[in-house]
Amino acid sequence: MDYQKLIEEIHAEVEQMNLHGQVATYIPELAKMDLHKFGISLITTQGEEFKVGHTNDKFSIQSISKVFTLAMVFPKEKDNLWKRVGVEPSGNAFNSLAQLEYENGVPRNPLINAGALVVTDLLRSKEPDALGAILGFINRLAGTNQIIPNKDIAQSELNHSSRNKALAHFMKSFGNITSPVNELIETYCYQCAIEMTASELAQAFLLFANHGINSLTEQQLLTLSQTKRINAIMQTCGFYDEAGEFAFKVGLPGKSGVGGGIAAVLPNQFSVVVWSPGLNAKGNSLKGMKALELLTTKLGHSVF
Ligand code: GLN
Repeated sequence: MDYQKLIEEIHAEVEQMNLHGQVATYIPELAKMDLHKFGISLITTQGEEFKVGHTNDKFSIQSISKVFTLAMVFPKEKDNLWKRVGVEPSGNAFNSLAQLEYENGVPRNPLINAGALVVTDLLRSKEPDALGAILGFINRLAGTNQIIPNKDIAQSELNHSSRNKALAHFMKSFGNITSPVNELIETYCYQCAIEMTASELAQAFLLFANHGINSLTEQQLLTLSQTKRINAIMQTCGFYDEAGEFAFKVGLPGKSGVGGGIAAVLPNQFSVVVWSPGLNAKGNSLKGMKALELLTTKLGHSVF
Protein backbone atom coordinates (compact mmCIF):
# COMPACT_ATOMS: atom_id res chain seq x y z
CA MET A 1 0.00 0.00 0.00
CA ASP A 2 1.39 3.38 -1.02
CA TYR A 3 0.33 5.32 2.06
CA GLN A 4 2.31 8.40 1.04
CA LYS A 5 0.44 8.76 -2.24
CA LEU A 6 -2.85 8.07 -0.50
CA ILE A 7 -2.52 10.70 2.22
CA GLU A 8 -1.23 13.31 -0.26
CA GLU A 9 -4.28 12.64 -2.42
CA ILE A 10 -6.60 12.93 0.58
CA HIS A 11 -4.91 16.12 1.80
CA ALA A 12 -5.35 17.74 -1.63
CA GLU A 13 -8.93 16.55 -1.96
CA VAL A 14 -9.97 17.85 1.46
CA GLU A 15 -8.22 21.20 0.84
CA GLN A 16 -10.47 21.70 -2.18
CA MET A 17 -13.67 21.13 -0.24
CA ASN A 18 -13.76 24.57 1.37
CA LEU A 19 -14.28 23.17 4.85
CA HIS A 20 -13.44 25.78 7.44
CA GLY A 21 -15.15 25.28 10.75
CA GLN A 22 -14.32 27.44 13.72
CA VAL A 23 -11.47 27.54 16.18
CA ALA A 24 -12.45 26.87 19.79
CA THR A 25 -13.14 30.23 21.44
CA TYR A 26 -14.25 29.17 24.91
CA ILE A 27 -10.53 28.85 25.73
CA PRO A 28 -9.38 32.28 24.46
CA GLU A 29 -5.80 31.20 23.81
CA LEU A 30 -7.05 28.51 21.39
CA ALA A 31 -8.88 31.15 19.35
CA LYS A 32 -5.43 32.30 18.11
CA MET A 33 -4.88 29.09 16.13
CA ASP A 34 -4.45 29.35 12.37
CA LEU A 35 -7.45 27.84 10.58
CA HIS A 36 -5.33 27.03 7.55
CA LYS A 37 -3.12 24.51 9.29
CA PHE A 38 -3.72 20.96 8.12
CA GLY A 39 -1.40 18.00 8.54
CA ILE A 40 -1.65 14.22 8.41
CA SER A 41 0.83 11.75 9.90
CA LEU A 42 0.40 7.99 9.54
CA ILE A 43 2.82 5.58 11.22
CA THR A 44 2.67 1.85 10.60
CA THR A 45 3.23 -0.74 13.30
CA GLN A 46 6.51 -1.44 11.46
CA GLY A 47 7.55 2.09 12.39
CA GLU A 48 7.41 3.70 8.97
CA GLU A 49 6.02 7.25 8.90
CA PHE A 50 4.12 8.91 6.04
CA LYS A 51 3.22 12.57 6.35
CA VAL A 52 1.83 15.54 4.52
CA GLY A 53 1.18 19.18 5.43
CA HIS A 54 1.73 20.70 8.88
CA THR A 55 3.00 17.69 10.77
CA ASN A 56 5.81 19.47 12.63
CA ASP A 57 3.71 22.25 14.19
CA LYS A 58 2.90 21.87 17.88
CA PHE A 59 -0.76 22.00 18.90
CA SER A 60 -2.39 21.33 22.25
CA ILE A 61 -3.73 17.81 22.41
CA GLN A 62 -6.63 18.81 24.71
CA SER A 63 -9.05 15.91 25.15
CA ILE A 64 -6.73 13.44 23.41
CA SER A 65 -4.77 13.56 26.70
CA LYS A 66 -7.71 11.68 28.25
CA VAL A 67 -6.68 8.50 26.44
CA PHE A 68 -3.14 8.71 27.81
CA THR A 69 -4.28 9.23 31.41
CA LEU A 70 -6.70 6.33 30.98
CA ALA A 71 -3.83 4.16 29.71
CA MET A 72 -1.81 5.09 32.81
CA VAL A 73 -4.55 4.52 35.37
CA PHE A 74 -6.30 1.41 34.00
CA PRO A 75 -3.39 -1.05 34.52
CA LYS A 76 -2.99 0.19 38.11
CA GLU A 77 -6.64 0.35 39.16
CA LYS A 78 -7.80 -2.58 37.02
CA ASP A 79 -11.55 -3.19 37.28
CA ASN A 80 -11.86 -0.93 40.34
CA LEU A 81 -11.72 1.91 37.86
CA TRP A 82 -15.17 1.00 36.55
CA LYS A 83 -16.71 1.63 39.97
CA ARG A 84 -15.86 5.30 39.55
CA VAL A 85 -16.56 5.80 35.84
CA GLY A 86 -18.73 3.97 33.30
CA VAL A 87 -18.11 2.70 29.76
CA GLU A 88 -21.26 3.85 27.96
CA PRO A 89 -21.39 6.55 25.30
CA SER A 90 -22.84 9.76 26.68
CA GLY A 91 -24.55 11.13 23.59
CA ASN A 92 -23.92 14.50 25.21
CA ALA A 93 -21.46 17.36 24.79
CA PHE A 94 -17.99 16.80 26.25
CA ASN A 95 -18.58 19.20 29.13
CA SER A 96 -22.22 18.39 29.86
CA LEU A 97 -23.44 18.36 33.46
CA ALA A 98 -26.85 16.87 32.72
CA GLN A 99 -26.29 13.11 33.14
CA LEU A 100 -24.21 13.45 36.28
CA GLU A 101 -27.17 14.39 38.41
CA TYR A 102 -29.40 11.43 37.66
CA GLU A 103 -26.46 9.01 37.53
CA ASN A 104 -25.27 9.94 41.03
CA GLY A 105 -21.98 11.57 40.16
CA VAL A 106 -20.61 8.61 38.18
CA PRO A 107 -19.63 9.85 34.70
CA ARG A 108 -20.72 7.85 31.68
CA ASN A 109 -17.18 7.21 30.38
CA PRO A 110 -13.54 8.30 30.82
CA LEU A 111 -13.41 10.35 27.61
CA ILE A 112 -15.88 13.07 28.54
CA ASN A 113 -14.63 15.83 30.83
CA ALA A 114 -16.30 14.48 33.98
CA GLY A 115 -14.85 10.99 33.42
CA ALA A 116 -11.40 12.34 32.64
CA LEU A 117 -11.49 14.35 35.86
CA VAL A 118 -12.15 11.13 37.80
CA VAL A 119 -9.23 9.42 36.00
CA THR A 120 -6.88 12.34 36.75
CA ASP A 121 -8.11 12.32 40.35
CA LEU A 122 -7.16 8.63 40.63
CA LEU A 123 -3.77 9.36 39.11
CA ARG A 124 -3.21 12.23 41.57
CA SER A 125 -4.06 9.95 44.50
CA LYS A 126 -1.12 7.64 43.56
CA GLU A 127 1.36 10.07 42.01
CA PRO A 128 2.67 13.05 44.00
CA ASP A 129 3.70 14.67 40.68
CA ALA A 130 0.81 13.65 38.43
CA LEU A 131 1.61 16.10 35.64
CA GLY A 132 5.26 14.98 35.65
CA ALA A 133 4.11 11.36 35.40
CA ILE A 134 1.80 12.17 32.46
CA LEU A 135 4.61 14.02 30.67
CA GLY A 136 7.02 11.14 31.31
CA PHE A 137 4.52 8.64 29.93
CA ILE A 138 3.81 10.62 26.76
CA ASN A 139 7.46 11.50 26.12
CA ARG A 140 8.49 7.86 26.43
CA LEU A 141 5.78 6.83 23.97
CA ALA A 142 6.80 9.53 21.51
CA GLY A 143 10.52 8.81 21.92
CA THR A 144 11.48 12.31 22.99
CA ASN A 145 11.82 14.52 26.07
CA GLN A 146 10.65 17.72 24.39
CA ILE A 147 6.91 17.42 25.02
CA ILE A 148 5.61 19.95 27.55
CA PRO A 149 2.39 21.88 28.19
CA ASN A 150 1.87 25.34 26.75
CA LYS A 151 1.56 27.49 29.88
CA ASP A 152 -0.44 30.25 28.15
CA ILE A 153 -3.05 27.74 26.97
CA ALA A 154 -3.18 26.05 30.39
CA GLN A 155 -3.59 29.42 32.12
CA SER A 156 -6.21 30.54 29.62
CA GLU A 157 -8.26 27.41 30.27
CA LEU A 158 -7.76 27.76 34.03
CA ASN A 159 -9.13 31.30 33.83
CA HIS A 160 -12.24 29.95 32.10
CA SER A 161 -12.74 26.73 34.01
CA SER A 162 -16.01 27.38 35.82
CA ARG A 163 -17.76 24.54 34.05
CA ASN A 164 -15.02 21.97 34.67
CA LYS A 165 -14.90 23.10 38.32
CA ALA A 166 -18.67 22.68 38.52
CA LEU A 167 -18.33 19.11 37.22
CA ALA A 168 -15.62 18.35 39.78
CA HIS A 169 -17.50 19.91 42.71
CA PHE A 170 -20.64 18.08 41.76
CA MET A 171 -18.86 14.71 41.65
CA LYS A 172 -17.09 15.54 44.90
CA SER A 173 -20.48 15.95 46.55
CA PHE A 174 -21.07 12.26 45.70
CA GLY A 175 -17.60 11.30 47.02
CA ASN A 176 -16.32 10.54 43.50
CA ILE A 177 -13.49 13.11 43.61
CA THR A 178 -10.91 13.11 46.39
CA SER A 179 -8.45 15.86 45.34
CA PRO A 180 -9.05 19.50 46.22
CA VAL A 181 -11.00 20.75 43.19
CA ASN A 182 -8.66 23.65 42.39
CA GLU A 183 -5.62 21.37 42.34
CA LEU A 184 -7.40 18.76 40.22
CA ILE A 185 -8.51 21.35 37.67
CA GLU A 186 -4.97 22.72 37.48
CA THR A 187 -3.54 19.27 36.69
CA TYR A 188 -6.34 18.71 34.16
CA CYS A 189 -5.82 22.05 32.38
CA TYR A 190 -2.08 21.39 32.13
CA GLN A 191 -2.60 17.87 30.74
CA CYS A 192 -4.96 19.29 28.09
CA ALA A 193 -2.43 22.02 27.21
CA ILE A 194 0.32 19.48 26.41
CA GLU A 195 1.60 20.33 22.96
CA MET A 196 2.68 17.78 20.38
CA THR A 197 3.19 17.64 16.65
CA ALA A 198 1.02 15.35 14.55
CA SER A 199 4.09 13.13 14.08
CA GLU A 200 4.78 12.90 17.81
CA LEU A 201 1.15 12.16 18.56
CA ALA A 202 0.93 9.45 15.89
CA GLN A 203 4.08 7.86 17.34
CA ALA A 204 2.63 7.94 20.87
CA PHE A 205 -0.72 6.59 19.69
CA LEU A 206 0.93 3.59 18.09
CA LEU A 207 0.60 2.01 21.55
CA PHE A 208 -3.09 1.38 20.81
CA ALA A 209 -2.43 -0.09 17.35
CA ASN A 210 0.36 -2.27 18.69
CA HIS A 211 -1.26 -4.50 21.35
CA GLY A 212 -0.32 -2.13 24.20
CA ILE A 213 3.41 -2.31 23.45
CA ASN A 214 5.57 0.81 23.29
CA SER A 215 7.25 -0.07 20.01
CA LEU A 216 10.28 2.13 20.79
CA THR A 217 11.17 0.41 24.07
CA GLU A 218 9.31 -2.86 23.43
CA GLN A 219 7.73 -2.52 26.85
CA GLN A 220 4.27 -4.06 27.27
CA LEU A 221 2.35 -1.23 28.99
CA LEU A 222 -1.18 -2.56 28.58
CA THR A 223 -2.42 -6.13 28.41
CA LEU A 224 -4.21 -7.25 25.25
CA SER A 225 -7.49 -7.03 27.10
CA GLN A 226 -6.77 -3.52 28.39
CA THR A 227 -5.80 -2.40 24.88
CA LYS A 228 -9.01 -3.88 23.47
CA ARG A 229 -11.06 -2.07 26.10
CA ILE A 230 -9.41 1.30 25.61
CA ASN A 231 -9.91 0.99 21.86
CA ALA A 232 -13.55 0.01 22.43
CA ILE A 233 -14.07 3.09 24.60
CA MET A 234 -12.45 5.29 21.93
CA GLN A 235 -14.72 3.73 19.32
CA THR A 236 -17.91 4.33 21.28
CA CYS A 237 -17.06 7.49 23.25
CA GLY A 238 -14.12 9.27 21.58
CA PHE A 239 -16.19 11.91 19.80
CA TYR A 240 -18.81 12.81 22.42
CA ASP A 241 -22.21 13.25 20.79
CA GLU A 242 -20.67 12.49 17.40
CA ALA A 243 -19.19 9.09 18.26
CA GLY A 244 -21.85 7.31 16.21
CA GLU A 245 -21.18 9.54 13.22
CA PHE A 246 -17.43 8.93 13.46
CA ALA A 247 -17.95 5.14 13.65
CA PHE A 248 -20.40 5.37 10.74
CA LYS A 249 -18.14 7.43 8.50
CA VAL A 250 -14.64 6.42 9.58
CA GLY A 251 -14.86 3.16 11.50
CA LEU A 252 -11.71 3.48 13.61
CA PRO A 253 -11.19 3.86 17.36
CA GLY A 254 -10.07 7.44 17.87
CA LYS A 255 -10.11 10.55 19.99
CA SER A 256 -10.57 14.20 19.16
CA GLY A 257 -9.55 17.38 20.97
CA VAL A 258 -10.65 21.00 20.67
CA GLY A 259 -7.08 21.90 19.63
CA GLY A 260 -8.13 20.40 16.26
CA GLY A 261 -6.34 17.07 16.56
CA ILE A 262 -7.83 13.66 15.90
CA ALA A 263 -5.79 10.53 16.67
CA ALA A 264 -7.04 7.13 15.50
CA VAL A 265 -5.77 3.60 15.03
CA LEU A 266 -6.31 0.64 12.78
CA PRO A 267 -5.17 -2.12 15.15
CA ASN A 268 -2.19 -4.15 13.83
CA GLN A 269 -1.74 -1.71 10.96
CA PHE A 270 -1.17 1.95 11.82
CA SER A 271 -1.91 5.00 13.91
CA VAL A 272 -2.95 8.20 12.18
CA VAL A 273 -3.22 11.80 13.35
CA VAL A 274 -4.92 14.59 11.48
CA TRP A 275 -4.61 18.13 12.77
CA SER A 276 -6.69 21.05 11.55
CA PRO A 277 -8.01 23.63 14.06
CA GLY A 278 -11.38 24.34 12.37
CA LEU A 279 -14.01 22.53 14.43
CA ASN A 280 -17.60 21.57 13.70
CA ALA A 281 -20.41 22.33 16.15
CA LYS A 282 -19.63 19.20 18.19
CA GLY A 283 -16.02 20.28 18.76
CA ASN A 284 -14.42 17.84 16.32
CA SER A 285 -12.00 18.86 13.55
CA LEU A 286 -13.96 19.25 10.33
CA LYS A 287 -11.09 18.49 7.96
CA GLY A 288 -9.87 15.79 10.33
CA MET A 289 -13.18 13.92 10.18
CA LYS A 290 -13.33 14.24 6.39
CA ALA A 291 -9.72 13.14 5.87
CA LEU A 292 -10.20 10.04 8.00
CA GLU A 293 -13.46 9.20 6.27
CA LEU A 294 -11.63 9.33 2.93
CA LEU A 295 -8.74 7.29 4.34
CA THR A 296 -10.81 4.27 5.40
CA THR A 297 -13.07 4.54 2.34
CA LYS A 298 -10.18 4.62 -0.12
CA LEU A 299 -8.27 1.94 1.78
CA GLY A 300 -11.29 -0.31 1.99
CA HIS A 301 -10.19 -1.07 5.57
CA SER A 302 -11.56 -0.11 8.94
CA VAL A 303 -12.27 -2.08 12.10
CA PHE A 304 -15.52 -3.13 10.42
N1 GLN B 1 -9.51 21.23 27.82
C1 GLN B 1 -10.77 21.11 27.15
C2 GLN B 1 -11.91 21.23 28.16
O1 GLN B 1 -11.84 20.69 29.21
C3 GLN B 1 -10.82 19.81 26.43
C4 GLN B 1 -12.10 19.59 25.69
C5 GLN B 1 -11.92 18.89 24.38
O2 GLN B 1 -10.85 18.81 23.78
N2 GLN B 1 -13.03 18.43 23.85
O3 GLN B 1 -12.91 21.85 27.94
